[in-house]
Amino acid sequence: MTTTPLPPNPTAPTRYTGDTLQGIPVITELAVSDLPAGDRHRFFFQGVQMGTGQHWYVPVVVAKGSRPGPCVTLTAGVHGDEVSGIDAVQRVMAQLDPTVMAGSVIAVLGVSRPAIEYTRPFWPMAMQGGQSVDMNRIWPGDETGDNAPTRHAGLLWNRLLRPNAPVAAIDYHTITTGSAFTLFLFADLRQAAIRQMAELFPVEHIKDDPGLAGTLETTLVESGIPALTVEIGEGRRFESQKIALAVEGSLNVLKHHGIVPGPLGRTAAEVGTVFGDSLETVRATTGGFLELLVELRDRVTPGQPVAIQRNAFGDVVAEYQAPVAGEIAVVARDALCEPGRRIVQILYNQQAG
Ligand SMILES: [Zn+2]
Repeated sequence: MTTTPLPPNPTAPTRYTGDTLQGIPVITELAVSDLPAGDRHRFFFQGVQMGTGQHWYVPVVVAKGSRPGPCVTLTAGVHGDEVSGIDAVQRVMAQLDPTVMAGSVIAVLGVSRPAIEYTRPFWPMAMQGGQSVDMNRIWPGDETGDNAPTRHAGLLWNRLLRPNAPVAAIDYHTITTGSAFTLFLFADLRQAAIRQMAELFPVEHIKDDPGLAGTLETTLVESGIPALTVEIGEGRRFESQKIALAVEGSLNVLKHHGIVPGPLGRTAAEVGTVFGDSLETVRATTGGFLELLVELRDRVTPGQPVAIQRNAFGDVVAEYQAPVAGEIAVVARDALCEPGRRIVQILYNQQAG
């Protein structure tokens, strides 16, 4: 794993197709360096084609400061039902004034286009029997890959995310439909720059996480770009309080890098963020209706009951206890519960200290 930032690629300028969509120019390549400074720019990035030959277009906003400085990327909508991330990025961008900024912020407002249109987590393909692809397991993608979402990721990675050599990147998510999450960060705290960035967020939970192959976060980190994943509660609806805190943390990152002027907002230390290095998952052993006995942020001890499950006749068929001491970070929201389904996740520390 390297930590050397990639140099900007000066050979590829912003490439315009000549088309406009709803009055907005369409691009196939973004180079922030050649955009007018001290202004805000909107684009549709031309993504992969659909089966009929039309394209999926990804909304992109660039706030380019009047003075030179580093670049930060904000990405949302890698999963299609995780709308709070899109709202958070819109709110960060709305607070930026390019005339007083030094450097640039690139906002990618909805990566997995068809998944967003149909409010579902994964990219629904027309091919292979309508299989769905998890766009957060295929980065950095491949422009000549075996399916459309892999090619879409490759286009975004090669022509938008990587060439602008961000000094930091934030990927915004929520939990998938049917469950709820605290305001939570996944971050590889072994790296000093990432730890520093994570601690700028006034979140409820931070998990020290080595990363997962194919996620956008891990791919960025492996390319030498400090990155983290922010989880903003539930899917499908805006969680306004959590969004506000995610925005505050994001602006802190921009202030830390000198892109945006002004004092820092609240940080992890100020809100008493709970850190952990592990997530313990309690899964349903049988089918049945679920009665939760805990809520998000409840502190649990080993053996403490967390949920009861009943069959169609109302008989108790399973009882679940916390296997570890920690804090509840994830709960199931759907009462109907299939075997194997995640009931709760507990954030805790496996390694003392
Ligand atoms: Zn997600």
